[in-house]
Amino acid sequence: MAGLRADCAGPVLTPEDPSYDEVRRVWNAMHLREPAVIVRCTRTADVRAALRFAAAAGLPVTVRGGGHNVAGTAVADGAVLIDLSLMRQVVVEPGERVAHAQGGVLLRDVDAATTPHGLACPAGVVSHTGLAGLALGGGYGWLARKWGLTCDHVLAAEVVLADGSVVETAQHPDLLWALRGGGGNFGVVTRFTLRLREAGPVHHRAGLYPFDDAVAALDQYARFAEAQGPDQHAVGCLKIASDEDWIPVGLRRTPVLALTSVWLGEPADGPAANAALFEPLRPAVSRERVLSYAQLQALGDHSEPHGHRYYTKSCYLGDLPSAGLAAACADIRSPWSAIDFEYLRGAILDLPDAESAFPGRDAPYICTVSAHWLDPAQDAENIAWARASIAGVAEPGRGGAYVNYLQDEPDGKVLDVYGDVRYAKLAEVKARYDPANVFRANQNIRPHSQQPV
Ligand SMILES: Cc1cc2nc3c(=O)[nH]c(=O)nc-3n(C[C@H](O)[C@H](O)[C@H](O)COP(=O)(O)OP(=O)(O)OC[C@H]3O[C@@H](n4cnc5c(N)ncnc54)[C@H](O)[C@@H]3O)c2cc1C
Repeated sequence: MAGLRADCAGPVLTPEDPSYDEVRRVWNAMHLREPAVIVRCTRTADVRAALRFAAAAGLPVTVRGGGHNVAGTAVADGAVLIDLSLMRQVVVEPGERVAHAQGGVLLRDVDAATTPHGLACPAGVVSHTGLAGLALGGGYGWLARKWGLTCDHVLAAEVVLADGSVVETAQHPDLLWALRGGGGNFGVVTRFTLRLREAGPVHHRAGLYPFDDAVAALDQYARFAEAQGPDQHAVGCLKIASDEDWIPVGLRRTPVLALTSVWLGEPADGPAANAALFEPLRPAVSRERVLSYAQLQALGDHSEPHGHRYYTKSCYLGDLPSAGLAAACADIRSPWSAIDFEYLRGAILDLPDAESAFPGRDAPYICTVSAHWLDPAQDAENIAWARASIAGVAEPGRGGAYVNYLQDEPDGKVLDVYGDVRYAKLAEVKARYDPANVFRANQNIRPHSQQPV
């Protein structure tokens, strides 16, 4: 341990350290684990030292970017936790429309650095999520239909491989391909180079429908969303309404359908473009605002705080199963749980398979059932609700899923997500860069010598 501490510029924590208990925590309180050692890396050399130490000690490793993976893959009992949460620097080259982000940045770190230049990297909708896990697995968000996924914007990366060597993807195009959607299977990314897009203020409109109107409004949503071009992004959520001031008293704490439309085109066209989602069936209440991109990105922050208990199930859909979605909402077990769905397509379809490992680009819809509660005594009923709800909406025979939302899946799910051909190619890349499967605390791609899971 003394050698590891001497090799690292950042703190090295063991269970005796006063800060260990706080630092080991991840976003989902369901995954309170006891790593043997936490290496709080502050530079690439610390990552190398952590890998050397783990190999010499015969310990497994886990890697934490933002700590938001719902399955808690960033932490494991008895492992060496390579914690990148102190590596959060972002450097923007506005003229080049490029940002260089360290491996532990949160989405909000990227937004804070890029939005003063009127630029953004398309990313997820909760700004305390880690960029690394999100980008390596794909990255859906408000700008995806207009510009593509977050992984499509990874131009290059610095990666520490399992053997401790440091490589740049410019010399390893197969590695870059795998990092765009293949998850954290290939090494520790210490720096991403990201393509940036123009991102100005957006027009945003949200409306709430009482539960009795949910099925008709869901059908209206589907007709609207499927007819839009890439400047329009509309999402929906079935949930229990909160007590916020703008919500009529009669709707508060009742099941509702929330629909939201964001217009990313000419600002003057925003009000009319977004109003069309809410016609002819009008919501009980709606509000419209012009938001900066950074404000848009932070809208979801309060609803999914750190330290609560979460269990998520997700699937792709060809059509929106309005009745099944409404039934899942009627049975909801916790006032914080939600069923989210969105129509995808647009620029997500643009990147060819030869340029990224991300599967499922042609999926029309993604639906995510998020159980969210506080009391461990309610684990079983909330998990059961999420499982039953996803079973009630999933389309028999439609395979695949979004890798970043996988959790306690049956054997074969990772193979199902990527499909035989893509999985085989990923396994070849894995065998080249991590033949001993050191990076296996993830949705694991096994080296081609091993059986797929
Ligand atoms: C509140 C919330 C909102 C979300 N919203 C969205 C969304 O809008 N769009 C979307 O697409 N997804 C979204 N997600 C899912 C998100 O993409 C995944 O949870 C993702 O794993 C989070 O990344 P992280 O770095 O925070 O994860 P972590 O838990 O830190 O890491 C997860 C895994 O990623 C790998 N990893 C992390 N950092 C590195 C690194 N630097 N190098 C190599 N491997 C690494 C490791 O395998 C690790 O096990 C959301 C999740 C949450 C909890």
